[in-house]
Amino acid sequence: MQNSSSVRLLRRAALGCAVAVSFALAGAGTTASAATGAGAQAAPANAPSAAIAHSAATYGRTVALTFDDGPGPFTGQVLDLLAQYHAQATFCQIGNQAAANPALVKRILADGHRLCDHTVDHPQPMSTLAYTTQFQEITAAKKMISKAGGPGTLIRWFRAPGGDFSPENRRIAVQDGLRPLGWTVDPRDWSRPGVASIIATVKRELRPGGVVLMHDGGGNRSQTVAALRELLPWMTGQGYRFSLPES
Ligand SMILES: [Zn+2]
Repeated sequence: MQNSSSVRLLRRAALGCAVAVSFALAGAGTTASAATGAGAQAAPANAPSAAIAHSAATYGRTVALTFDDGPGPFTGQVLDLLAQYHAQATFCQIGNQAAANPALVKRILADGHRLCDHTVDHPQPMSTLAYTTQFQEITAAKKMISKAGGPGTLIRWFRAPGGDFSPENRRIAVQDGLRPLGWTVDPRDWSRPGVASIIATVKRELRPGGVVLMHDGGGNRSQTVAALRELLPWMTGQGYRFSLPES
């Protein structure tokens, strides 16, 4: 008897705590709405930071690998290599391509990776587009990627095409629950500078907590795949652990 009433008391206490928290969040939301004034839409109380993420989520000798512009014909090879080295990565996907390749989106999730919104069709430059166009690019892509991934698909980041972030598109992203995602290492693999160049840039510029930008889509990515084949064992050999970006 004593045990079960203790449990009931604990349950009541936990419920009371949850209610208090939700009141606090509602209060914070109201204050934020009032403070931002007419016309401006406040971010939800549990919205991610609008600051561009430039580091891995976990401290120490970690690296967050990110792959942009897919899914596409080279995504499968990237996934095979990541699986071989038990490496987790984040895929910044183009909405149209996710919609066209739902099986690849599902495989990315099944392999334990995470997803990032990289707009519907990769407009560049993005920040000079009308607000409504930027809004559509971000929010519709999130829906397309979610639909391709299936029920329960979680998308936690937004990366502007070419890194063209602005206060406006970051605010749209945050209001849609997405943290802007940058990078610290850019081997410019999209320009196909040669496998050796991609490898050398990553080895030279990677520091603990770094975010590496590479591409599984947007063209022939055989150089990226070949570089990754050498970089993954190198990272492991250097003591790096694979992490998600901060969110
Ligand atoms: Zn891109």
